[in-house]
Amino acid sequence: MRNYSYGNFGAATNIDKLLCPSTVSNTSRRQFVKSLSVLGASAILPGTAGFMAQTASRVGSSKPTRIDVHHHLFSPTYMSLSDPAGHGNPRSVPALAHWTPARAVEEMDKAGIATAVLSIATGGIPAKQAGESRTLARDSNEYGAQMVRDYPGRFGLFASLPLLDQDASLREIEYGLDTLKADGIALTTNYGDKWPGDPAFVPVFEELNRRKAVVFVHPTTPTCCGNLIPGVPATWAEYDFDTTRAITSFLVNGAFTRFPNVRFIFTHSGGTIPVLARRIAELFPPELADRAPNGVESEVKKLYFDIANAANPSSLAALTKLVSTSQILFGTDFPFVRISTTVDGFRDFGFSAKDVQAINSGNAMRLFPRLKK
Ligand SMILES: [Zn+2]
Repeated sequence: MRNYSYGNFGAATNIDKLLCPSTVSNTSRRQFVKSLSVLGASAILPGTAGFMAQTASRVGSSKPTRIDVHHHLFSPTYMSLSDPAGHGNPRSVPALAHWTPARAVEEMDKAGIATAVLSIATGGIPAKQAGESRTLARDSNEYGAQMVRDYPGRFGLFASLPLLDQDASLREIEYGLDTLKADGIALTTNYGDKWPGDPAFVPVFEELNRRKAVVFVHPTTPTCCGNLIPGVPATWAEYDFDTTRAITSFLVNGAFTRFPNVRFIFTHSGGTIPVLARRIAELFPPELADRAPNGVESEVKKLYFDIANAANPSSLAALTKLVSTSQILFGTDFPFVRISTTVDGFRDFGFSAKDVQAINSGNAMRLFPRLKK
């Protein structure tokens, strides 16, 4: 295990300071807010009451409690690649170019996020870079482990695998979970022309099942479907379609039944699966019934889903019709999506206080016991 330096992000850190409206540390800010609450903020600083109320509504308390299971990291190596995810140079994307671990923590504090479980950025370990994927996975995993060490309690880690390289994936599972103490494994919804339920990946899932691993499955664009309609980016719909493809690949190969100890997390309120699960169940071939012995919907109801960038009335309505609240996790997709987008949509949906607590942190703590405070 090596110590990872943040040195290559020095320039971004300086930019970060220039862009940030306040350079007050979060600890100082919390102390400041606490002091004002004791003395009566509006009486002391006229005009600040609205800001204070907004801050209070976002945070809910002075102690962050949320666990964000969908939160990205960007190692200097990843950022140096010209096109790691098939969407061009990451440094041309402002949200990425200005990202630093410190700024991530600052945004987490604003939203009451105690811990964010890190995963490699969109595109994961692209199949077209299969030759480099082993190195990129190790580099990203080392970088994430360094963030976990540098900010105690603030980050967890999903270790990435170069899934097309079976032997390297088995080694990375061992290194990531045993040496780096990662909290789970990050996969993507496809690897070139293979989706993760493919029989070729059975040895990897046998090992993940033996370890009772949490597996976070992030969407990406399959080679078939990146530019089907000019002007329509994959992020509009293709990511959500590919989440459903990944789930169907597990279903048709019986993977959810064969690897019952793996706890799967899918993203963005399940993509299109909440709407399509019943249709798939009704059309599932009877001769494959042993691959979903209690029915397709029963298998899908066992999965976990984060609400990143899908905390809106229609997405949450569909998801909550399919699964119980115990399967829903808070996630933000930061920095690709503003944290407030998910926070505000989640707040406005009308969950009960008990469900809010479960989604904010209770369900995640069952998956990651070490995050219990
Ligand atoms: Zn994401």
